[in-house]
Amino acid sequence: MERLLAKYAGKLAAAGLTRPEDTVLGGLDAELVWNRASPLTDPGTSPLPGLFEALNINSLLFARPAEPYRTCVDFLARESLESGRPIRPEDCETRTFLHDLPVVPDLDPAALASALRSRKAVIVPGLGVLSFGTVSPEQAFVTYSSTLFSCFVKFFLDCLRAKDRGDFSGPRQAAFDQTLAHLPPPRTDLPILAPGPFATEEEVYRAMDQAGAATVGYGLVDSYFGNISYLFEDTLFISQTGSSLDELAGAVDPCPLDGSSCAALTASSEFTAHRRVYEGTALRAILHGHPRFSVIMSMDCALADCPNLGQCHIRCDQPRFVGDIPIVPGEVGTGPTGLCNTLPPAMRERRGVLVYGHGLFAVGRRDFNEPFATLLAVENDCRARYLARMER
Ligand SMILES: [Zn+2]
Repeated sequence: MERLLAKYAGKLAAAGLTRPEDTVLGGLDAELVWNRASPLTDPGTSPLPGLFEALNINSLLFARPAEPYRTCVDFLARESLESGRPIRPEDCETRTFLHDLPVVPDLDPAALASALRSRKAVIVPGLGVLSFGTVSPEQAFVTYSSTLFSCFVKFFLDCLRAKDRGDFSGPRQAAFDQTLAHLPPPRTDLPILAPGPFATEEEVYRAMDQAGAATVGYGLVDSYFGNISYLFEDTLFISQTGSSLDELAGAVDPCPLDGSSCAALTASSEFTAHRRVYEGTALRAILHGHPRFSVIMSMDCALADCPNLGQCHIRCDQPRFVGDIPIVPGEVGTGPTGLCNTLPPAMRERRGVLVYGHGLFAVGRRDFNEPFATLLAVENDCRARYLARMER
């Protein structure tokens, strides 16, 4: 357990989500252990240790977000306390994973336990974000990371909408300026990924490992989300659902295209979408991430009186683009409005497609250099377009 706690505390810091000195991560084996001692781990004075019993969980993470997340999380949390409504982001990670984000004003044990009985995380403004796992600290890590991502996306989208309404001022503008001042500059250097086409399955696995790690390393996806695939001979190699793109060893499924023996049960939930993108094309590689400004701009629909309002992620029928990249609706999964039906036709003759509120899919004909470059270029383009809109 100590090893796992150290691992996820390290991943949180490496992803820039929290600072190690602001992170308290506890896990229950035979006994309750923490990544470090702190007043927050003291059962006499802190409500955190008691939550293990109250919630029947095996791990707990409480951490103050690092900038650029801290200011926007706190802004949204205070706004939520004022309105009495939870934070309700509209991105896909929230829709499928978190629903909404409850906020409580302080570390009251009953309020924390009550919030966490129906949701995966709770925010205490000025103090931190609390999440948990029932089988592993990995769940607490994933929820925490997803919460910060969703808050970031919602805050920036709210600012854009406020700007469009002519209502961008006061505390929101101050929080925006502060967040922006902490935003690292966009990266423009590209990693050198293994050149394809690949000659053996081993080369495919190695190339996928490398591209997945680079995608996480560049911050183009939370580690737990996104997916990656490569078409080698008649087999589609695809990351498993719920796998971390920076830990793909043993988490890639070979799925023969004839469906003979398909591991597609564990393969990514987006397996069908990937397979259909390859169909009838010379494409070999797909990389899918959730770059933040791409997700924000995918939800920037300025249509007044939108007939699909609130349903844009399912049935937007407006032709929309960011530059040469189409934006399509599409739910996770294979239903009639699933992205397995919307993504493949939109990808014809394109280098990438944005799925509304979800993320970017990019393709390559030989290896992962081309889709990686697309992912980064589109994200930087979306960031530049966003900032230009905010300056008008
Ligand atoms: Zn995704």
